[in-house]
This record gives sequence, C-alpha cells and structure tokens, in this order.
Amino acid sequence: MSIKKIQYNIIAWMLVLAGNALVTQVQAETKPLIVTSIKPLAIIAASAVGDAARVQYLVPDNQSPHDFSLPMSALKKIIQADLVIWVGPDFETGSAKAMAKLPTEKLLTILHLPHTQPNRVHRNQRDEHSMEADPHLWLNPENGNHIAAEIQARLGIPIKDIISRQQISRLKAQLVSIKDKTYLTHHEAYGHFAIAFDLKPGLSIRNSSGGVQGIKTQYKLRKAIGKTDIGCIFVEPQYGNKDAAIIAAEYKLPLVELDPQGLSQDLNARAYSEFIGTLVRQFKTCHQ
Ligand SMILES: [Zn+2]
Repeated sequence: MSIKKIQYNIIAWMLVLAGNALVTQVQAETKPLIVTSIKPLAIIAASAVGDAARVQYLVPDNQSPHDFSLPMSALKKIIQADLVIWVGPDFETGSAKAMAKLPTEKLLTILHLPHTQPNRVHRNQRDEHSMEADPHLWLNPENGNHIAAEIQARLGIPIKDIISRQQISRLKAQLVSIKDKTYLTHHEAYGHFAIAFDLKPGLSIRNSSGGVQGIKTQYKLRKAIGKTDIGCIFVEPQYGNKDAAIIAAEYKLPLVELDPQGLSQDLNARAYSEFIGTLVRQFKTCHQ
C-alpha cells in the first residue's frame, strides 16, 4: 500500500470516529436536562430516570446547602434545564428569587409535594416552641420513591420505585439492635431518617438550618448530654467540626462521619439505594 493510500485510510477512519463522537454528543444533548439544587436530589433524579435524561446539580460539594446562593453559572444552567428540582424557599433561601421566575411546569418544589412523609423541627433558638417542616426529607426512602415518581411522571416515563420494600426492610433489620441508642448530630438533619428506620430522635448541636444555637439551648444540650448515654457525635464532611470537636473532647465521645448529602455517591441508576445503604452503614458504626 502506498504512503498516500495509508494516509487516505487514516483520514477516512478519523472522519468516521469524529462522526460517531458527534452522534453520541448530539444524542446526549437531545436528552432532557434535569438540574437539581442539591446533590441528594440529583441522586434521586439519576435513579429515577436512568438513561432517559441528563442530571446535574448546583451546590458545590464543599458548601453547605443551607447558605448557598446561585452564582451566574448556575442561573444559566437552570434556564437551560427542562426540569429544575429544589427543596423549597425555606431551605434554599438564596435561590428563592431565581426559582420564583421559572414557569411552574419546569419547577419541582419537593417541600410542596403532597403525600410525602412529614417531620417537624424547631424553627430557631429564639422560640423553641415554634416548629416548621423538616427540609431533609430525602433521608426517608418513602419520600425518595415519592419524589422519583413525580420526576418520572413529569418526564412521561414508567413509574417505578428507586428503592424496593425488600431493600428498605433489609436496611431496617440492620439497625434493629441500635434502635434505642442515643446519638448527637452536628445539625438537626436526621429526623426523617430516624422515622424511616425506627430510630430514636438524636440530640443536635446546631439547628435544622445548620445555624448555631442560642446560649440557653446550648446549656440545655450540655445538660442533656451529661445525662444521656450517647454513642458518638455525627459530623458531616462539608461543615467545620470545631464545635463538635470541643464537645467530643469534653465528654470523651468519638466523632463519626455521616454524609446526608451523598458527596461520595456516584450518580447512576442505583444511586439512591446505594446512598441510603451507605448512610445506614455509617450510622451503625456509632454504636460499635
Ligand atoms: Zn441540613
């Protein structure tokens, strides 16, 4: 074969490969784009849609979703998206203005979804009797399935659970031995998880928005810690653990990492059941 012919063959192959890459790219770009505010909702969306849509999320892994406001790049993304999913205006206060401008058929506000399992948390340290809806509802698998069904309905794809009854029962069984144990969490985020898995509600250092508690509440907490047999303090990867570390040293309690945002979870079709499975495993280590 002449050099010219070899060159011609190479160029022809390169064109074929480039063509294939282009087809794959076009196919990917014609799939609907789902953009979620926080990663746990992307985990639910990825499990709900499989290959039927692209899923992206906005809050960077090193930031707390409680005090995140949308940068310009995120605004562009929600405009491009076919479906935007967020928790709601009380949780993602920094995003509320931008979300309010989206057409309702493009926006899914999970705190406003009917039929999700509820949980109430203390509103703030000033008024310890005022309660509000706990925004961490993705931590109850019943809610995970419910949110997934809504996403599937919006996309017009078959409705199916993203975590099965059997999987939930198996995970529940793993936690039976520690159902009466007490624990301390960095912020009040695990009420939904405790309800779903028949666990006791834990004590928390910070409130449900990740805010520092007032002096009176902190004093009460220390009194409660002194009187309770606590297994550990759960800390989260994206928060500084200074306040937790001080209490851990004072009461000789181990710090255990628990990741309610699923920061190390891949986005795939089994993502949600894997994420809940990891949480259950991490939770168990508190009492081992
Ligand atoms: Zn939280």
